[in-house]
Order: sequence, then structure tokens, then C-alpha cells
Amino acid sequence: MKYSEIMVRYGELSTKGKNRRSFIMRLAKNVRQALVDFPRLKIHADRDRMHLVLNGEDSDLIIPKLKMVFGIQGFSPSIRVEKDIEQIKKCAQEMVSEIYTGKESFKVTAKRSDHTFEQTSNELNVTVGDAVIEQFPEIKVQMKKPDINLRVEIRSNGAFLSHETISGAVGLPVGTSGKGMLMLSGGIDSPVAGYMAMKRGVEIEAVHFASPPYTSEQALQKAKDLTAKIAPYVGQIQFIEVPFTEVQEEIKNRVPQGYWMTITRRMMLRLTDSIRQSRRGLVILNGESLGQVASQTLQSMVAINEVTNTPIIRPVATMDKLEIIDTAQKIDTFDLSIQPFEDCCTIFAPPQPKTKPHLDKVHQYEERLDIEGLVERALTNIKVEEIVPESAQEQEDEFAELL
Ligand code: ATP
Ligand code: MG
Repeated sequence: MKYSEIMVRYGELSTKGKNRRSFIMRLAKNVRQALVDFPRLKIHADRDRMHLVLNGEDSDLIIPKLKMVFGIQGFSPSIRVEKDIEQIKKCAQEMVSEIYTGKESFKVTAKRSDHTFEQTSNELNVTVGDAVIEQFPEIKVQMKKPDINLRVEIRSNGAFLSHETISGAVGLPVGTSGKGMLMLSGGIDSPVAGYMAMKRGVEIEAVHFASPPYTSEQALQKAKDLTAKIAPYVGQIQFIEVPFTEVQEEIKNRVPQGYWMTITRRMMLRLTDSIRQSRRGLVILNGESLGQVASQTLQSMVAINEVTNTPIIRPVATMDKLEIIDTAQKIDTFDLSIQPFEDCCTIFAPPQPKTKPHLDKVHQYEERLDIEGLVERALTNIKVEEIVPESAQEQEDEFAELL
């Protein structure tokens, strides 16, 4: 079917009273970024709905992308015709004939926001319903849960017909909850953690620690590919690569094996926190899940967490591995995550890490390291890769005028 627009219903936005305007603007911006490859598409956001005017763009290509944008309850591709009874009837008949297989029940739900239109909503229900019955005399009319609900909406700029509502990704528009730094390894858990945080409106930047030549170019690429997998939920994610070789070599040379892991994690956290601060993030996110490995006992968490007061959100902390894998499969990161490229933790993993590290020992061993110098040198050499669609800013200004 050749649709002329997609009507988008907001998700939880409706409950967010005062913040509504910024929510809608952010959603519009995110939709624009997700659909940056469709230059003819125009977005009109108002208080209650968002209208994507297709201007000839292909709805079949747009729909899968739109399904990934958080903050959308559902959307309906629709056809626009003139506000003329005959045209509306004809369009309704064509729409039903494309989907009716001889079995489905139907009803018409008309709505009139343009009250100057010649028929009321009830009259339109009858007029359009009769037109469909005229074409398919055997079609069953059913008011409750019909198979086909043909919606007709009379608005100031035309009559809009649609027959389906596609479920959106729900959640909150990414960015409306502020920004957090996601510690992204190449594993299964951290991309899932990122996805879950984005679903609650957190804009994320990915921080990845790489230790070349101990870690390979492929391991780095894998982390970037994972980032790319979760990027469509927002349109762009900044990927921050942190050189970690010197830190790991120093730890290996100066710290007893049992404490490598704890101190490595503390260094990662210190670095992530500095990056967060300079990039104005509010929180840190990671993929820690209780009990999975030595670093993920509560005692370890306490020892690692000691280096910062910044809130650390652990979206998958209490999920079972199988639940996490389920989500990883749903968001299509699983197959990438299980590729066997060793990351910095695998390579420097001690044979017997302490599952209950003692803080006094941690402090004692860290005395042997030039923590400040290590942090400073790593930070001066971070690499940031950013993909920001050019049209995003322009669109944002446009919406600001509309609202
Ligand atoms: P994942 O599947 O996310 O790799 P994991 O079960 O392998 O998790 P760990 O390797 O113990 O668990 O890592 C715990 C968390 O620490 C990760 O989820 C991630 O947030 C962070 N982390 C570990 N390694 C790195 C890295 N190289 N770069 C960035 N963050 C990392
Ligand atoms: Mg890992």
C-alpha cells in the first residue's frame, strides 16, 4: 500500500505533565536521527501525536527503523485523501480490498478534529461502513475486537485512513533521562545493559578499554560493531576507546595476581569516571551481573566501587544469564558477543582472582602504582568516534518552532 504518512502515538509521555514539551522534542529528534536516510520525510510533532509525512519515501523501509525508537506506543501508516466523501469512500474500499481475504470482520472508527466537515463521526462511520459493505456484501461487521479496524480521521489538512496499529518500542525517548557512560566490553552483558538503560531514556556513550597488542584489532572492532547494533535505538552513540595497555602492564608487574582483577577494575572505573565528568555524563552503567564471575561478588563490587561516589547503574545485575541471553538475542547482539576475540580482561585474567578482596590490601598494592600518572596518560590518548547525522540540529530547531 502506498502510504502518505505515519501517525505516531506517544508512549509514557502522556504521564509526564510539565516535561512534555522537552520529551516530544527529544523524541522528534531521535526519530529524525533514526530516519536520517529518508531526506524527503517531514516530521510534525504536536502535543498529542507526531505525524511523519512521507513525501514519497517508502514506509516499508521506515517502519522497521521506527519500531526501534523508544518513547513510541504505536504507530499507524495512513493514506491521505481530500476531505471529500467520495474520495474517502473510494480509499476505504481500496484499503479493505487489499487486506480482506474473505474471513475478516471489520468496523469503521471515524474521528473528526475538523468540526467544519460535513459529516459527524457517527455519520462517517455509517457512510464509510456502507461503502465497504457495498463492495463486499458478505463482510462481517463487528464492533468488539474486529479483525480490521478501519480508522478515518478528518483533520484540517485532509482525511487520513489507516487499518493497523504497529506496536512501538515503548520506554522513554533516549536522552530524556540524561547521559551515562556505558562500560562496554565485547561480552554479552554490557550491550544488554546499554539497551535497557536507553529504554529508560538514558543517552549512552560507550567506553571501551583496549590493550593492544595484547588485545586484537578484531576485539576492538567487535566492541564497535556491538555499539552499532544498539545505535539504531537512538541514531548515534559516541564510542570512546581508552588505551589500557600501560595500566595493565603496570598492574601485572607490581601487584600480586590475586589482586589484578580488583585493581584493574578500579582503574577502569577511575578512568570511566573522569571521562564521564569531562563529557558531562551523570552516571556510569555497566554489565555486571551478580555471581557470574569473581569480579561480580558483592564483596568485589564494594572494593571496586570504592573509587567513586558516582552512581553506577547495573541494569542486568539481578538478571539470570538466560534472561540476559534472551534479550541479547532479541536485540541481535548475541552472535557478535560470542565471537571469540579475547578482551583485556581475559588476557590478564589471573588464575585465581580474589572473590573477597580486602580493602587494606588493595590500598597497599595501589601505593606501588602511579595512579595519577597512569590515569592522565590514558586520558590524553583516548579516541572518540562519533556519528552524528547532520540534519539532526536543523530538525530540532524546526520542532522548537512548532511546539
Ligand atoms: P560482558 O558480557 O559485558 O563482557 P562479563 O560477564 O564478561 O560481561 P566482566 O568481564 O567481568 O563480565 O565485566 C563486567 C563489566 O565490566 C562488563 O559488563 C563491562 O561493563 C565492564 N568491562 C569489562 N571489560 C571491559 C572493557 N574491556 N571495556 C569496557 N568495559 C569493560
Ligand atoms: Mg567481559
